[in-house]
Amino acid sequence: MSELVPTAVVTGGSRGIGKAVAKTLAGRGFQIYLTYVSKADEAGAVVEDILAAGGKARAFALDVSRPEAVAAFFQEEIRDKVFLSVLVNNAGIAKDNLILRLKDEDWDKVLNTDLRGPFVCMREAAKIMTRQRLGRIVNLVSVVGQMGNPGQANYSAAKAGLIGLTKTGAKELAARNITVNAVAPGFVETDMTGSLSEETRRVYLEQIPLKRFGTAQDVAEAVAFLASDKAAYITGQVLSVNGGMYC
Ligand code: NAP
Repeated sequence: MSELVPTAVVTGGSRGIGKAVAKTLAGRGFQIYLTYVSKADEAGAVVEDILAAGGKARAFALDVSRPEAVAAFFQEEIRDKVFLSVLVNNAGIAKDNLILRLKDEDWDKVLNTDLRGPFVCMREAAKIMTRQRLGRIVNLVSVVGQMGNPGQANYSAAKAGLIGLTKTGAKELAARNITVNAVAPGFVETDMTGSLSEETRRVYLEQIPLKRFGTAQDVAEAVAFLASDKAAYITGQVLSVNGGMYC
C-alpha cells in the first residue's frame, strides 16, 4: 500500500472552514479529496487554487446525509486507490429555531447531516484505515455542543453527539493506530455565521475574551495539527478554538 498517494478527505471543502482545511492540508503534502453538496463552482475553485500552488486535489459531489452515497464514495474512490491518511468530518448545516418552534423536519435534516453524516463517513473510513493500520480522523464540532445555545437545539445536540462519537471512536480504533479527535470552533466568520444580525454578533463578541471572531484559518491550523504525525499520541480529545469563549 506504500505506493498509494497519502490523501486527506475533507467533507464540505468548498467553502468556509473546510476550504481553509483543504488548502492547509494540501500545503502539508496531502492529496486532497474535497466534497461538496451543491456548490460545484466553489469546490472547483478550491481545487484550482491547490493545483496552482503545486498540490494535488479533486472535488466530489457527495451529500453526507445519504449513507449509501457515502459508502459508494469510499468504496469506489478511496479503497485500494489512495492511502487514506486523514478524514476531516467538516460538512455541516444549521437550521435554527427555539425548541417550541423547531420542526421535526429541521431536527432530522441537521442530525442527519451533522451527526449521522460524520458517523457514516467515520465507519466507512475506518474500514479502510484499519486495513492500513494507520489513520487520523478529525471531527468539526462546536462550542455550542459544549455549552448549549438558545435557538440551536438540533445543532447543539448534533455537535454534542459528535463529541461522544469522537471519544468512542478513539477507544474503538486506537488498537489499529487510528486517532479520532474533535476541533470545537467558537464563532468563526463564514457563510454559516454571515446571516447573523449585528446585535447577535455584538452579544457573541462580548462573550469572547480575545475580543475577535475566529477565522477559518485559525481552525484549519488546529485540524492540521491533529492530522499530523506530531499529534500521534493524542486521541479522544476536543481542541477548542474559540478565543476563550468557553473554557
Ligand atoms: P459553511 O461555510 O456553511 O460551509 C458548509 C460546507 O459544508 C460547504 O462546503 C457545504 O457544501 C458543505 N455541506 C453542507 N451540507 C452538506 C451535505 N449534506 N453533504 C456534504 N457537504 C455539505 O460552514 P462553516 O462555517 O465553514 O462550518 C464548517 C464546519 O464547522 C461545520 O461542521 C460547522 O458546524 C462547524 N462550525 C462552524 C462554526 C462557525 O462559526 N462558522 C462554529 C463552530 C463549528 P456546499 O458549498 O456545496 O453547500
